[in-house]
Amino acid sequence: MQVRVLGSAAGGGVPQWNCGCENCREARAGGSVRARTQESVAVSADGAAWFLLNVSPEVRAQIESFPSLWPRAPRHSPIAGVLLTNGDLDHCLGLLSLRESHPLIGYATESVHTGFASGNVLYRTLERFAGQLTWRALAAGQEQPLGDTPLAVTAIPAPGNLPLHLKGLRPASPADNVGLVVRDTRSGRRLAYFSGAAGPSPELVRAVTDADLVFFDGTFWSSDELIAAGLGTRRAEEMAHWPIGGPDGSLPFLSRLPGRRVLIHINNTNPILREGSPERRAVEAAGIEIAFDGMELSI
Ligand SMILES: [Zn+2]
Ligand SMILES: [Zn+2]
Repeated sequence: MQVRVLGSAAGGGVPQWNCGCENCREARAGGSVRARTQESVAVSADGAAWFLLNVSPEVRAQIESFPSLWPRAPRHSPIAGVLLTNGDLDHCLGLLSLRESHPLIGYATESVHTGFASGNVLYRTLERFAGQLTWRALAAGQEQPLGDTPLAVTAIPAPGNLPLHLKGLRPASPADNVGLVVRDTRSGRRLAYFSGAAGPSPELVRAVTDADLVFFDGTFWSSDELIAAGLGTRRAEEMAHWPIGGPDGSLPFLSRLPGRRVLIHINNTNPILREGSPERRAVEAAGIEIAFDGMELSI
């Protein structure tokens, strides 16, 4: 399985348009913080057909950044489908930009699918002809093939939240936020993709323990990161993100996993973005990698 990180930042990206924090300033100045687009990862069994895990608002530039996603005919795209982990805008808004009459398969839980499509007048741009966007429902724990490729996907409920724009409009459900396990049925190798998780759960622990490659929520280093920087009022956990640092952070948990581990969905305030910072050194010392745009992996 080929894996390419198209975007590695949390919502807003690095730098974020309205942020002048230390990291965003460094990124603009070309200093020790690398610029990053919002989280999305492409996977393929053969390099011909690709599936996007989340579709960021920057999808057009992300496609252009990776020649394997370029058309091979006057009207063509190697992108066969998209998979959504939740309905946050940084994970699904790009779907509306893939509207130029290319048939796609969308994989999402019923809750994420309806949260995006129902009552959304802009969604009609993806319903202009039959077969433009075909949804396949992800049911927790049930594996299904990705198109006609040798890859298969299973959704694993992960502790999380409703997207902000749906809060108060509908009750929360365990299917609002999932991780994805993509298995190569030829080799049996597994990618576990948990870019947003408020904490551990038995299903999550099992999925990442069994995986050869794990992408994990790297949004915040500390619980009060936004509060301490004067940039927000909510703690990481309230935003459904398990902080990396501290005695109850994800770092000790990730350190114990057997597979290759990569932090992704990194917020622009996170000190691990700074080369040489103590927080980044702690992550590296634990053998954990920090995703960057253009990172390529293979399992
Ligand atoms: Zn996000
Ligand atoms: Zn910032």
